[in-house]
This record gives sequence, structure tokens and C-alpha cells, in this order.
Amino acid sequence: MTDSTPEQVVIIGSGPAAWTAAVYAARANLSPLVFEGEPRGTELPGGQLMLTTEIENFPGFPEPISGPVLMERMKAQALHHGARVISELVARVELGAPPFRVVPNYAPAVLARTVIVATGAAAKWIGLPNELRLAQSGGGVSACAVCDGAMPAYRNRRLAVVGGGDTAMEEALYLTKFASEVVVIHRRDSFRASKVMATRVLSHPKVRVEWNSEVADVLGDDAITGVRLRDTGTGAERDLEVGGLFVAIGHVPNTAFLGGQLETTPGGYVKVVPGRTATSVSGVFAAGDVIDDYYRQAITSAGSGCMAALEAERWLVHHGEAP
Ligand code: NAP
Repeated sequence: MTDSTPEQVVIIGSGPAAWTAAVYAARANLSPLVFEGEPRGTELPGGQLMLTTEIENFPGFPEPISGPVLMERMKAQALHHGARVISELVARVELGAPPFRVVPNYAPAVLARTVIVATGAAAKWIGLPNELRLAQSGGGVSACAVCDGAMPAYRNRRLAVVGGGDTAMEEALYLTKFASEVVVIHRRDSFRASKVMATRVLSHPKVRVEWNSEVADVLGDDAITGVRLRDTGTGAERDLEVGGLFVAIGHVPNTAFLGGQLETTPGGYVKVVPGRTATSVSGVFAAGDVIDDYYRQAITSAGSGCMAALEAERWLVHHGEAP
């Protein structure tokens, strides 16, 4: 683990994609080294599932499992099979030619024959203190309707969705299955979403839109009771009673540390060979939400982590570098 002895596989990240890649690479005797990140403010390593209270749609868990517990168990499984972990963020990478160089914040740099980038994407939040507090405590604020919307607490309640893009439209339509009413809160007077999605939302009998409105505050102590809306034209404020708030104002893939060395999509996600995890640099693979602006699920992320580890293993064999 020094600058002079290259690792077979270095995995960057600590969500479902990273730990699944670590399990597969460890079982292939590649002794992967995982940079899992480090606590930053209120954020812990483990990715977006650290903000999910109960997961009901990860196969194998008939009873709900909490996001942090699922991540701990994935990590424990990877360690059990021989993965090693450094609890640090990667500051930068040098991907010019293999062996690649991975430079963490404090520990010595590491050389790597293959790298798997699984750093995920962060949901954007409005930035209100009560919003993040209630998101972290499971108090009825979420950035993923498909993950959380089916929970009993949201049944037959009025639910609000913030945003005017395709994600907000999808979340609003999904929530109509459970809610008594879905209110889409959008800061302008027209949606950015594709016409077909916008039309579906606008014609749905359970959905109404608060145009030209922004959320000025989230109300409630242990659980959300409502939102304070501000008219973006007049500045007038009023309260709307809701039983849940779903923030759908976009995601940002965590790619800054790559310094533009991997090709990305127009949205900034790491570009991979379609249906694979190979990136624009041979020997560097990417998996999970950092390549996915479409599914964004723990299970799809885990699946692509598996693919990345298998591809890294085959790359090493093909290049005569397998142990
Ligand atoms: P997006 O297209 O960037 O839309 C974000 C929305 O949130 C916009 O309406 C924006 O308002 C609003 N917004 C941003 N910051 C805000 C803030 N601070 N406060 C209030 N509102 C804010 O993001 P997305 O909907 O996640 O979609 C991302 C990409 O994935 C898009 O290309 C989309 O087409 C694609 N996608 C496709 C599908 C599909 O095909 N089924 C599904 C989901 C996503 P403004 O409009 O005023 O800027």
C-alpha cells in the first residue's frame, strides 16, 4: 500500500455500488482497497442511503431495513472477504496511464492498476435548516419518492413535491398512488420537464400545482406538518398543511476529484460504454449513481458495482496483471 507497489483494485466510494464491487473483487482475491470517505459536517460515509430511514425495496429484507444498517452490513461483508478500507476522501486522481495514482486527503498516495469510481451523486436540497433536520431524522422530508413514498406515514396525506423537471413529475405521479393529494411547488410559471411528463401531471386529478412559489420554511418539530410558501412575484407568504415533502430539484454527481480526466455526459455524469462500466480511460470503471441519472436505486447501484468488479478483474487478466 505504498506509492511503489500498485494495488490491483482501488474502489472510491462507500454506497451500494462501492461495497458490492468490494465484495466481488475481494472474493476474486484482488484484495481491493476502498476509500470510503470521511464524515463532513452532518454527512457520513455511506452515500445517500445514510439519509434513508427505512428501505422496503431492497430484495432479501422482508422487514424494512434502515439505510445506515444496510450500508454497515454491506461493508462488513466486504471486510469479511478481505477488502481493506481507508476512511478518507480522495482529493484527486492521476489517470494518465496505469498504474494510476490515487491521492487521498491525508494518507500517502496509492498506485492502482484498476480504479472503480463509485462516488455517487448528491441530491440537491433547498438549503433550509428544518429541511435537512427532518430529512435526517426521518421526519417526512425526502429526496426520493420511489425510496420513501410507500411508507405508511405518507398514506392518504397531502404530499408536496418541489421542482419542475422530469424528476419532480415522476415523483408527483408516483406519489398519487398513496397520497390524498399531491401539490407540486414550482418557482416559475411553466415546467422544465418534457411535455409528455408535464401533461401527465397537469391532467392528473390528484395533482395540483402551486406556480411561482418557493418553500420558505418547513414546519414541524419531530415530523413535518406543513410548508411555508412564498410567492416569487409578490413575496407574500402562506402556510400549506402537508404530511410529506419530496425535494426533486436535481442531483449533482460527485466527480470534482476526477479533475475532468474522465469523459462525462452533458449532465456531468461519468460516461460509460453503454451497458457496461468501462469509462473513457482503459482500466478505470465507474458504477452506481455517478453514472446513473435515471434509476438511482440502491439495487441498480449494487448491480453496477458488481459489473465494475467483474470488468476490473477481466481487465487485469487480459492485461496479464491478475495475481
Ligand atoms: P432538472 O431538469 O435540473 O430540474 C430541476 C428542477 O428543480 C427545475 O424545474 C428547477 O427550476 C428546480 N430547481 C432547481 N433548484 C431549485 C431550488 N433551489 N429551489 C426550487 N426549485 C429549484 O433536474 P431533474 O428533474 O432531476 O432531471 C435531471 C435530468 O434527468 C434531466 O435531463 C431530466 O430530463 C432527466 N430525467 C429524465 C427522466 C425520464 O426521462 N423519465 C426522469 C428523471 C430525470 P427551474 O425550472 O426554474 O430551473
